[in-house]
Amino acid sequence: EPPGRVLLDAAGLRKTFGGLVAVNDIDFSVKAGEVVALIGPNGAGKSTTFNLVTGVARLTAGRVRLFDRDVSGEPARAIARLGIARTFQHVKLVGGMSVIENVALGAHLRGRAGPVRGALGLDGAEEAAIFAEARRQLARVGLAELADRPASSLALGQQRIVEIARALCLSPALLLLDEPAAGLRFREKQALGDLLRQLRRDGLGILLVEHDMDFVMGLADRLVVMNFGAKLCEGPPVAVRTNPAVVEAYLGS
Ligand code: ADP
Ligand code: MG
Repeated sequence: EPPGRVLLDAAGLRKTFGGLVAVNDIDFSVKAGEVVALIGPNGAGKSTTFNLVTGVARLTAGRVRLFDRDVSGEPARAIARLGIARTFQHVKLVGGMSVIENVALGAHLRGRAGPVRGALGLDGAEEAAIFAEARRQLARVGLAELADRPASSLALGQQRIVEIARALCLSPALLLLDEPAAGLRFREKQALGDLLRQLRRDGLGILLVEHDMDFVMGLADRLVVMNFGAKLCEGPPVAVRTNPAVVEAYLGS
């Protein structure tokens, strides 16, 4: 993708659960070669916003444009096929499977999403292609040497990076990460930040939900701050850090 091209444009996103307004008229966009962080206290509506953008949750109102195409109301599978991949806040690797098998699950999904596929499973050539792609993505994130280890034997920081490799198998232009730094040690966060900077240089757009302010402040080009479902403010890290409304939302009153 040429840097600067708008990949994702969300306008007026709204989601209600019964009487609860989980997401209230949110606008934002993500460009190629840009890292945008969605931050805010617990329950602010960050994960729900992700679910709206990826078609996992149905919009109550609003519009999502992906690569200049209106995908509002389209199913998650169709949206994923267009070039958006995500990790989930709570979905993890399959511990009993090897690292490479876990990554191959992502490539397998892409294979399934391809234009012409038989309904009777993979043939040998297809399976070889899937594992080749999985190895390529594992090498890209710097973990090629862990390919045959059981996923459960990896440190948490490595598991997070394997999850990203799995998402990269979908050849996304846009990568959505829900709290990728949660629970990681300092060095693991550094490694994750380095990887995301590398992917940004590769031209990916990255949208991440994050709790860890220090992590996003050092990484994101732009922050979108949510509170009680609404957008509190938006801007580069320095501007957001000193915004009085943000300070109040985070420190309580
Ligand atoms: P965040 O990711 O910022 O912590 P969420 O998007 O998970 O926040 O949640 C926003 C609000 O919506 C919360 O009050 C949460 O309890 C509520 N919520 C989220 N998902 C559902 C759901 N499936 N059904 C009912 N309420 C939900
Ligand atoms: Mg969340």
